[in-house]
Amino acid sequence: MRFLTVVGNRPQFVKAAAVSRLLRAAHEEVLVHTGQHYDDELSRVFFEELEIPSADRQLGIGGGTNTSQTARQLAALEPLLAEVDPDAILVYGDTNSTLAGALVGAQAGVPVAHVEAGMRSFDRAMPEEVNRVLTDHLSALLLCSTDTAVENLRREHVAGAVELVGDVMADVSLLIQPRARADSAAALQRHGVEAGGFLLATAHRAGNVDDPARLRRLVELLLALPVPTVLPLHPRTRARLEAADLLGALEGAPLVRLAPPLGYLEFTALLVHARAVVTDSGGVQKEAYLAGVPCVTLRDTTEWVETLDAGWNVLVDLDRAAALAALERPLPSERPDLYGAGRAGARVVEALTRLEQLGG
Ligand code: UDP
Repeated sequence: MRFLTVVGNRPQFVKAAAVSRLLRAAHEEVLVHTGQHYDDELSRVFFEELEIPSADRQLGIGGGTNTSQTARQLAALEPLLAEVDPDAILVYGDTNSTLAGALVGAQAGVPVAHVEAGMRSFDRAMPEEVNRVLTDHLSALLLCSTDTAVENLRREHVAGAVELVGDVMADVSLLIQPRARADSAAALQRHGVEAGGFLLATAHRAGNVDDPARLRRLVELLLALPVPTVLPLHPRTRARLEAADLLGALEGAPLVRLAPPLGYLEFTALLVHARAVVTDSGGVQKEAYLAGVPCVTLRDTTEWVETLDAGWNVLVDLDRAAALAALERPLPSERPDLYGAGRAGARVVEALTRLEQLGG
């Protein structure tokens, strides 16, 4: 079979790393990079470090509002789909690239397979939630990371076939984390921190950084953290901090170690040795869980609800006192396997192969 796979941003590169090579062993794949994340730091380093086959097509479409970006991606993907003429289109996660790929496929009558289907925050103010819901309802094959996601889709009566495959990002974590744990001295030294004695923080959700009042609360929370905190700044966050004149406060803070966005290996080396992670990222919540590192989530909802139930993650939104209290919590004694044992990528390929038998 021939697949047209659409990726565009950092977490999608990690997800593709678990699938692309396996898919290519059995099928043909044309990998399209929309250009949503185009910087070396957010894109190239992931392809290199995670040995993702290089993109067959680069659309170079980033920037602008969500709507305009999605519209430009749609316009570019339509003729590409006609040219490649795939048997199915493969999309990951919840970005504009995900929705554009799914809509182009569905409109052209090409079956859409969605990896990481069924995740819900139930917060429609999040652009990612809008993308997820629409993509799921356009998809012929919905491949889920968790039982919760399967249940969410059942409740929404999606039209496509739903399958639990486990989490593809977890495949990559389970592969890389042991390596990162053993080979982390240089990363710890570079950021001036010691294993177990620092926090790793990330923040880039529109809901936290686009509104200057919320951004100020975020900065106040980060400044209140009681131990050295490595903060790799997403370009969006850096731009918003500069615009709000808040970057200087972080630069001058004695405990904050500002960094550019890090490559996956360096980031993982820090993550596995952090005392805790403070983040609004979806992927990082899950990776912290897999590493046995407690997580404090700077949101009031999460799609990864199992990490809350297991006691390893706490939602604090931007409440400084709640964040500090969460950091003091004792660790749970158990950490059940929530996201599969590292075989999700293989199960995705098995499910995609069955699409043909389903008459896809
Ligand atoms: N990540 C990274 N370097 C960083 C920050 C994050 O490699 O400086 C990785 C992280 O390990 C995870 C992914 O990027 O695999 C998460 O991406 P992001 O937080 O941008 O997206 P989300 O998961 O929130 O959609």
